[in-house]
Amino acid sequence: MKLLKVSTGGESNKPAIWIDGGLHAREWISPATVTYIMLQLVEFRDLHPELIDSVDWYIMPVANPDGYEYSHSTDRLWRKTRSRATAEQRWGRRACYGVDPNRNWDFHWGEGPASSSNACTDDFRGPRPFSEPETKAMSDFILNRKDQIKIYLTLHSYSQMWLVPWGYKDEKPKDYYDMYILAEKGVEALEAVRGTDYLLGTAAELLYTSSGGSDDWAKGVAGIKYSYTIELPDTGSHGFVLPAHEIEPVGQETWAAIKSITRHFTDARVK
Ligand SMILES: [Zn+2]
Repeated sequence: MKLLKVSTGGESNKPAIWIDGGLHAREWISPATVTYIMLQLVEFRDLHPELIDSVDWYIMPVANPDGYEYSHSTDRLWRKTRSRATAEQRWGRRACYGVDPNRNWDFHWGEGPASSSNACTDDFRGPRPFSEPETKAMSDFILNRKDQIKIYLTLHSYSQMWLVPWGYKDEKPKDYYDMYILAEKGVEALEAVRGTDYLLGTAAELLYTSSGGSDDWAKGVAGIKYSYTIELPDTGSHGFVLPAHEIEPVGQETWAAIKSITRHFTDARVK
């Protein structure tokens, strides 16, 4: 798995932002948008030096590489990892592949309805939490830097929503208001670029409850206060198969949102 760290070095206690994309294989706009963010941080760093001088960035553009590859080679709408189910998880005589890597994180794993124990479903939670090498590697890396990482962002598609924990239950964290206010800044900056409408709220409010998601784990276990799932465009007319000409505008508006929430930390350091 490839990870990019963008840092100007110096003190190691700078706040850091984690961004991952492509956890679900078929959501191609996600790795494309994360790549756009990397472009801004590396090639266009002189346009916003304060975002690089005062913050460290950890960026994983393809968090499910085997699934992503399979969605290019074989099945465009593949969602899961590509691990092979063991015999007892087979469904009837059929051997099924893959675990939903956004149901596999070790926080209230396996609870609730949208997290299946059937290996042949698209939301199979896996035989145990962190059964997948991808989620295990990501979570180990994040835990080792949990005091440094102040924002956890995971980019999915589609539906144009900015999701705030919790996802696993229909309740809000105690500091939900803080999380909501920062997210609102992000959504306002995003919508200002070209008027794309985003909904903001918990997954339980806007979609359905589902457990084992990375954002819940980042908040509930790693203790990262500002943990969000961003569901990129569109709202369903193209769905997962967003046309390529949308890559750049989606990148621009998403980057505007990320800049805006990052300034919450860079501005605080200036004061
Ligand atoms: Zn997804």
